[in-house]
Formats: sequence, C-alpha cells, structure tokens
Amino acid sequence: MSTSHTSSSSAHASDEHCIFCKIVAGTIPSKKVYEDEDLLAFHDINPWAPIHFLIIPKTHIASMAQLTLSHEALMGKIMVKAGELALQEGAVPYPEGGFRTVVNTGRHGGQEVHHLHVHVLAGERPWQKI
Ligand code: 5GP
Ligand code: ZN
Repeated sequence: MSTSHTSSSSAHASDEHCIFCKIVAGTIPSKKVYEDEDLLAFHDINPWAPIHFLIIPKTHIASMAQLTLSHEALMGKIMVKAGELALQEGAVPYPEGGFRTVVNTGRHGGQEVHHLHVHVLAGERPWQKI
C-alpha cells in the first residue's frame, strides 16, 4: 500500500498513486456532476447504464472496509446526494424510474479502483452490466 499524506492544495488526505485522488486534484480530467468541500461526483468513463456516475469522498478512503463511525456524516451525505444527483442527471423519479447504487469492496466484491466510490446507475433498462 502506498503512503497517505495531506496534499498541499487541500486539507484532504490523498494517495499519490490513486487515480481518483488525481481526479480530485484535477491532474486527471473528469466530467463533473457535482462538487462540494467533501464530495466529488463524476461520470464513469465506461458507463454500464444510460446514466452512470460515481460519488467519491475527496479524502482518500480505500474502501468501505476502512469506514469507522467518524465517517458517518460523510457517507450519509453521499447517500443523500445519490438520489438528488440522479434526478439532476435525468433519472425518471421514483417509483416509475429510480436508480441503483452499487459499492464494490475488495477483490471478491469486484472493486477495481481502491478509493471508495458509490456507483449511481439509472435510465431505461436493459443495461450493459448489472
Ligand atoms: P469498481 O470496479 O472499482 O467498483 O469501479 C471502478 C469504476 O471506475 C469503473 O466503472 C471504471 O469504469 C471507472 N473508472 C476507472 N478509471 C476511471 C477514470 O479515469 N475516469 C473515470 N471517470 N472513471 C474511471
Ligand atoms: Zn484516492
């Protein structure tokens, strides 16, 4: 595992080898959906559904397996934002439409990028991948 440090440009812990930390820092471009002091949401580069974006904490947390109660408010905010941003991105409202949230954790969980992210998927089915 690489070491974590506090980046000079922000108060968020970051990992210099992490692709999503580079997206937070702006050194890798992304199609932004939403940003505030705690969170960044951006379109997935390889979408599985007509609407597919990721919500990440700006601070580097490798996965859900690292969460503690200190992250309660941050994770709560991500879940609240998921539905709000899905509508903003064109999801049909609940219950006719709705959206799907997915969090992959670890190898058995299918996680490829080790910076915690919530997938938000929406739009008419069938989708490419579940
Ligand atoms: P995981 O399998 O870890 O849950 O999902 C990682 C997701 O990140 C994948 O859906 C993949 O398409 C997306 N992804 C990987 N690299 C990039 C990138 O550089 N930019 C964006 N926007 N998405 C990425
Ligand atoms: Zn990271």
